[in-house]
Amino acid sequence: MAKLRVGILGSTGTVGQRFCQLLEDHPQFEISALAASDRSVGKPYSEACPWKLKTPMPKNVRDIEVVPITPPLDCDFVFSSLPSGVAREAEESFARAGYPVISNSSCFRMEEDVPLIIPEINPEHIGLIDVQRHKRGFDRGFIVTNPNCAVMSFAPPLAALDRAFGVKEAIVTTLQAVSGAGYPGVASLDIIDNILPYIAGEEPKAETEAQKILGSFSEGSIEKAEFTVSAHCFRVNVVDGHTASVRVNLNSTSTLEGVIDAMREFPSAGLHSSPERFIEVCEEPSRPQPRLDRNNGRGMTITVGRIFPDNVFDYGFVALSHNTVRGAAGAAVLNAELLIDRGVI
Ligand code: NAP
Repeated sequence: MAKLRVGILGSTGTVGQRFCQLLEDHPQFEISALAASDRSVGKPYSEACPWKLKTPMPKNVRDIEVVPITPPLDCDFVFSSLPSGVAREAEESFARAGYPVISNSSCFRMEEDVPLIIPEINPEHIGLIDVQRHKRGFDRGFIVTNPNCAVMSFAPPLAALDRAFGVKEAIVTTLQAVSGAGYPGVASLDIIDNILPYIAGEEPKAETEAQKILGSFSEGSIEKAEFTVSAHCFRVNVVDGHTASVRVNLNSTSTLEGVIDAMREFPSAGLHSSPERFIEVCEEPSRPQPRLDRNNGRGMTITVGRIFPDNVFDYGFVALSHNTVRGAAGAAVLNAELLIDRGVI
């Protein structure tokens, strides 16, 4: 089968670079267009992009000339990793021009006609695409989103517990890596030797997105899951990998073994970029750690540890995901694979 040609909006940024890395040898996709701001437009990607990944910039993107974030673009669909301030107008205009838009940005995530997808958890929410096309007057185009990068660390273990026992409420404290703020991101003098107890806009996302993801889809809309989440979001001096410390109350009682099994046995989606294990549970009391565990499953696995009965809540646990892979570009690539698998693209 011929590869689909993809465009990347925000291609020169932290997430855009991950897209280029993850798509280098992808069997279904090839990059045909790279878009970014006026600062980059007209330059070859190798000149416009401050490449920061450990692997070299892929040869297939080096000479592509960066173009503006406006349609038409020489591709079959677009991945978007634009800042939310510019994403709304750009993504909507691509969807209206007939392109499927698979977005990392927050601006459409909570809109009631826009799917917010984790393929292992709620693939059936892609049914919202028809509703969206009808409501917004899109013809072939549409917008699909993936969750906030911190939500990606704790929504999967909460999904496992919700399916098995029902989640009643949770308290979440996130410890978020510096790369989550893009490049150049947080000033070094603010983050070295320090912890920042506030990330603008993060706590409302952490408190609401999981309920949409775990909601049920019927008759053209999503009924959100009913549990409440209270969140504190911190920026910490880690390059990649968002950690979440979670305390949770369940609707029905479970043994510790039951909690561990529910997470460990949560099935993979079986797509090309799916990890063998969606959720890895580690036994060592000192894990997960960002530096040691963020690349589990090529950065696509959620690693959970420190699962214990809590004195105040039913259980506590610590969850980790790679914020620019599973929490961003990898999540969007997996969503694209799901949409192809289901015949939507
Ligand atoms: P970033 O490193 O700051 O990159 C931003 C990208 O957007 C660059 O390619 C930049 O192009 C382009 N851009 C900025 N302003 C623009 C404008 N006015 N017009 C056109 N293009 C513009 O940011 P990032 O970390 O990759 O994040 C991108 C998006 O993904 C954000 O919405 C973010 O919330 C989301 N996200 C990020 C992460 C993460 O871990 N970093 C995780 C999940 C979701 P130039 O290089 O030409 O300026």
